[in-house]
Amino acid sequence: MDDPTLDILVIEDDPDARENLRDLLEMDGQRVEVAGSAAEAMASEHLPQFAAIILDRRLPDATAERLMPRLKAAAPDAAVIVVTGYSDLQGVIAALRQGAEDYLIKPLNHDLLRASLARISERRRLAHSLEEARERAVQSERLAAIGEMVAGLAHESRNALQRSQACLEMLSLTVRDRPEAIDLIARIQNAQDDLHTLYEDVRGYASPIKLDCDRCDLSLVWREAWENLSSARIGKEATLVEHIEGVNLHCVADLFRMGQVFRNLLDNSLAAGFPPIVVEVVAESTTMEGRPALRLRFRDNGPGIPPERRSQLFDPFFTTKARGTGLGLAIARRIVEAHGGRIEVGENGPGATFFITLPRGLP
Ligand code: ADP
Repeated sequence: MDDPTLDILVIEDDPDARENLRDLLEMDGQRVEVAGSAAEAMASEHLPQFAAIILDRRLPDATAERLMPRLKAAAPDAAVIVVTGYSDLQGVIAALRQGAEDYLIKPLNHDLLRASLARISERRRLAHSLEEARERAVQSERLAAIGEMVAGLAHESRNALQRSQACLEMLSLTVRDRPEAIDLIARIQNAQDDLHTLYEDVRGYASPIKLDCDRCDLSLVWREAWENLSSARIGKEATLVEHIEGVNLHCVADLFRMGQVFRNLLDNSLAAGFPPIVVEVVAESTTMEGRPALRLRFRDNGPGIPPERRSQLFDPFFTTKARGTGLGLAIARRIVEAHGGRIEVGENGPGATFFITLPRGLP
């Protein structure tokens, strides 16, 4: 939505004026469709997609004020700019009353037209940001409610899990001479561990994220996450290769939370990588919305992410693993966004690539 390009419909019966306007707008990078009459405009199958309509006030088959209600119904998102003759004040007032956004006098002053379109583009951007902010607010309310419920559930279940764990340990002593029973007990214990992990992950995902930030060197954070994954590396040859020479790796960030992000990414790479596993971290300085930022690229040597899965990766509970919860990347995204940053999956192959962009200071 940072793209200022607009889809514009020009409704003008004079062929020269119509084509001049099309050329001018296309040279400005806009996407343009033209119509020579009200009937032709109303027949356009793209009407609902237009962001702006430049409407000649007098068309052979309608005036702007007569056409406006039908246009507004068919293209509710479009802002209409009425183009009119110098002496046509009454017509302008009628069109504005019908909901036109702006008017311009013939002959068209191109700078005024550009300014009017720039205002429309800016208003659409603001409306979009507002909508995103509203969605985020609804989402965090929903998550807070889920978090509270799951925290209660996790607490109660932990007691029950501990009791059954104790019973299983006693049972394994009783049946220690029966390997098939010991094997079944181990599988029950694994299932209980999975349940515990699921509760903890849902709680982690849904609970509000309060950052405790300090200036830190992020390479120390991902190295620690790598060290802490020693159990996931057992029996595997795995190397973390860094390309970070000369790059300032400092950001104001929450050490613990960013550790979770790196852990989730590295854990996935350890699960997916082909032996010997190689995970590569590349760092570079960049900017984010005009402010200094750090961009990290994590790439592994696994099968990568098929294009059809890319859009689902960060959805909670999306997993292809038999014992996955599908919350690792969803949690990572919440944490990175709480820092004012971005996490994205890169183009596929070779291996899976994830980009994290973090502002160097706090948002
Ligand atoms: P989980 O690890 O519990 O499945 P995640 O949210 O961490 O949850 O990952 C979701 C899914 O994304 C994984 O199940 C896997 O299909 C895919 N995925 C994530 N990282 C990688 C990777 N490095 N290589 C291949 N697939 C990956």
